[in-house]
Amino acid sequence: MVELSLVMVKPHAFDSKKLGIIVSMLEQNDFKIVGLKSIKLTTEMARRFYFVHEGKEFFERLIKYMSSDTIAAICVQKDNCVADLRKLVGATDPTKAKVGTIRRTVGETVEANGVHASDCIENAKKEIRFFFSDLELFSFQYLDY
Ligand code: UDP
Ligand code: MG
Repeated sequence: MVELSLVMVKPHAFDSKKLGIIVSMLEQNDFKIVGLKSIKLTTEMARRFYFVHEGKEFFERLIKYMSSDTIAAICVQKDNCVADLRKLVGATDPTKAKVGTIRRTVGETVEANGVHASDCIENAKKEIRFFFSDLELFSFQYLDY
């Protein structure tokens, strides 16, 4: 089934000019880029985006980090997009991510692990909506998201 998912390029990866490598890895693995923007999150936006982690030990640090500098939001499309993207992104800890994954390639620490990727179809829909309006998403397969 054709699905959409959301990639977020985290601050250190954007700042160290890894956006191109990340887009290239997505393209090489048959993900179509249907939306892309760079933006600096406010702390309020970061809190809303990561609300499921509220109360966890790392939450406040993560919010501070994610709102510290420019990020990029990328909406991608592919068959089985959500699961395939998580596979390409790799484990949360870049040192445990397999060779060839995005996090192994551009990640530095568990927090600064290069990218975020939606973890299920429902969250992908919400996260895409967080960043993009209908007009900003271009897709021939664009369905009911
Ligand atoms: N994170 C962290 N410390 C932890 C666990 C997670 O800083 O102990 C950060 C990390 O950047 C991760 C994000 O919080 O990408 C969201 O955590 P999650 O468990 O959802 O991992 P993901 O889905 O990103 O692999
Ligand atoms: Mg997650």
